[in-house]
Amino acid sequence: MTTRREFITGIPLGAAAVIGCDTSNEFKNEVQSENFGAGQGETIILGRTGFKVSRIGFGAAHFTLNKTKEEATRLVNTILDNGINLIDTAWNYGNEQASWRYLGEVFKDRNRDEFFLSNKLEWREGRPISEKSVEGQIDEALKVMHVDYFDLYLIHNLYEPGCYEKCVERRFIEDLIKVREKGKIRSIGITGHCHPDMILMCKHYPEIDVVLGGMNIMREYYYFDYDARHLNDYAKRNNLGILSMKPFLMGALTSNQPTALKYAMTQPNSVPIPGMTEIEHVTMNVRAAREFSALSPEEQQRWKEPETILEGPACTGCNYCINGDTDDIDVPQLVMAAQYGERFGLREWQSKDKQRKKLAQDLEKITPEMAKRYTGKCPFELPVDELLKKSALYV
Ligand code: SF4
Repeated sequence: MTTRREFITGIPLGAAAVIGCDTSNEFKNEVQSENFGAGQGETIILGRTGFKVSRIGFGAAHFTLNKTKEEATRLVNTILDNGINLIDTAWNYGNEQASWRYLGEVFKDRNRDEFFLSNKLEWREGRPISEKSVEGQIDEALKVMHVDYFDLYLIHNLYEPGCYEKCVERRFIEDLIKVREKGKIRSIGITGHCHPDMILMCKHYPEIDVVLGGMNIMREYYYFDYDARHLNDYAKRNNLGILSMKPFLMGALTSNQPTALKYAMTQPNSVPIPGMTEIEHVTMNVRAAREFSALSPEEQQRWKEPETILEGPACTGCNYCINGDTDDIDVPQLVMAAQYGERFGLREWQSKDKQRKKLAQDLEKITPEMAKRYTGKCPFELPVDELLKKSALYV
């Protein structure tokens, strides 16, 4: 009889190598000589803000890590020199406001009209800067970054139920409107990981012109996350600008880099803002943006169909496999993790995701007999037992 451990670890050895592949080396040592962002199609109007920005932006969350000030500022200068002119930052990016400080070093020597700068309001409790007023936070950030206005200022991370009520009660948007009237910010937005409260905020405050969310090919069509799809649809219908963070899912979609970026850029008003920590990332992203052509309706439809994406039957989350069971095992999520993880090469990302802990615990409890029982109940005749084994790579 197969043991529980053998059941869980019975993964073909070659699978991990394929899943972990990374094609970024092919772009190394390439120097981008022409300035990106000037040619037709290399800029985009950011929704109803009316601002023209480069087709791809720079998410400045991680560029300072393991870098000297000189290395980090050189990277940012390279990004700007290559015509990527939208930069998104926040007070907690990098150690001790390193993102702000290093960007400030760069901005001191650049013309203000060379870049579109986005920054965020920290409002969550327990963080020192949250004690400051809205205008106080903005003034501090302007000073550190050596600029006199932000093109976009967003309320940072609406992430849990009750965010909407808190923001309304604390009148953040009203305060931001007053600061906008003084010319210190030019447009207003919100960020989050596509929590439903983001849509509530947009409906309540027509002054919100931009949403920044984790929108990528995986999240929008990933069964784990319906909210991303709803937020994206809302933004499109209302002509909001969309900053699409994590277009590569924190590196997990690197092997699908061209399609992942293409997807984010195909969405109306959407500007992907990947992090870039090396010069070759800049080159790679500029090339992808420059060679961009929108996904056709047929291609987009293809990505919307899990059966097509997965080239075979896909788990629908119907729960028939666990109907009547008292095991308390989330079999559908494990099956989906295996199917989507394999298709998109998500091993590294999944292993970092805290939400996967419960699934990992579930997986530990499954015996071969249980797996056989689940398999027999699947109306789509999915090889549930085999997929549960594969899910060990992703949870
Ligand atoms: S019965 Fe099949 S399709 Fe339905 S949730 Fe279970 S594995 Fe997925």
